Amino acid sequence: MEQWMRQGFHWLAASPSANRMARRWGLRFGAARFVAGETLEKALEVVRDLNHRGLEVTLDHLGESVSDAAEAAEAAQACLDTLEGIERTGVRSHLSVKLTQLGLDIDRSLAEKHVGQILERAGQAGTFVRIDMEDSAHLPATLELFREMRRRHDHVGIVIQAYLYRSEQDLRELEDLGANVRLVKGAYREPPSVAFPDKRDVDQNMKKLIDMHLQSGCYTAVASHDPQILRHTRERVEQWGIPRDRFEFQMLYGIRPDLQRDLVERGYRVRIYVPYGTDWFAYFMRRLAERPANVWFVLKNVGRH
Ligand code: FAD
Repeated sequence: MEQWMRQGFHWLAASPSANRMARRWGLRFGAARFVAGETLEKALEVVRDLNHRGLEVTLDHLGESVSDAAEAAEAAQACLDTLEGIERTGVRSHLSVKLTQLGLDIDRSLAEKHVGQILERAGQAGTFVRIDMEDSAHLPATLELFREMRRRHDHVGIVIQAYLYRSEQDLRELEDLGANVRLVKGAYREPPSVAFPDKRDVDQNMKKLIDMHLQSGCYTAVASHDPQILRHTRERVEQWGIPRDRFEFQMLYGIRPDLQRDLVERGYRVRIYVPYGTDWFAYFMRRLAERPANVWFVLKNVGRH
């Protein structure tokens, strides 16, 4: 049953018509638990509040799988506006971007142009930009573009997904570039030909990648809500004497605020991924796929609309 629900949510996340429809609804069905708001100003208020509570942030203007050049240009402008908003308000926030939102599916050079503009502007503002990792079909182009950008800029990072067999090798190559890497388990539906089907293998690989990257001396962002992974990381950094400015924990807005608080109280750097915008549907569906129990939360909210 749970497996079916997961598949259904992944299918909805990838459905262009469901995404188009949801854009017209406004934030519904409890999506506001995971999405900071539909506007930049609302998102900046949330960032300010999180900062007051000792949390760092990375803002994400929602959107992906763009197939129209004008829409990709609008998305790039929204990222530039986000950078301007961060600078204007003085909040502590990085920026996260998705290459398919910036035109990767239309023309690789279009995505390259947009991400280049964003990095130029971010460099002037002193803001770090991370390129999110999407499904495995987009991984080679994403890594290639990251490598090009990394040669020109220090303030850019990437994501590696522990569910993929190839990630250990990819991480090794990224370490040669001194890359700042966010390590995650992986949020997309992938076939067993490319990804570990068993969650226990994913968890084990996640720990292996965390150990590798911490020991490489590169900056490590451990993005997980899994208490086992958090404990493992804390033990390793303690054991190996990794300074606290060489790594951080990351979690998603609205998920396990108790763990977020606990880590801050222990003196760790914790960054919250704060998505905002009208294109919330695919992101929301992936959060449901990760934890189908969230459906009860959705059903409770349906009655309110
Ligand atoms: P899990 O084993 O899935 O979950 C552990 C526990 O966390 C669960 O028992 C539950 O208590 C809680 N939890 C997890 N998910 C949810 C949820 N949706 N709702 C409520 N509780 C939940 N994936 C990518 O593929 N590419 C990216 O670029 C990317 N960026 C990310 C950035 C950040 C900051 C984070 C935190 C995650 C990102 N992810 C990304 C998602 C990631 O791949 C996982 O899908 C997600 O984090 C769930 O895995 P987990 O490590 O929390 O462990």
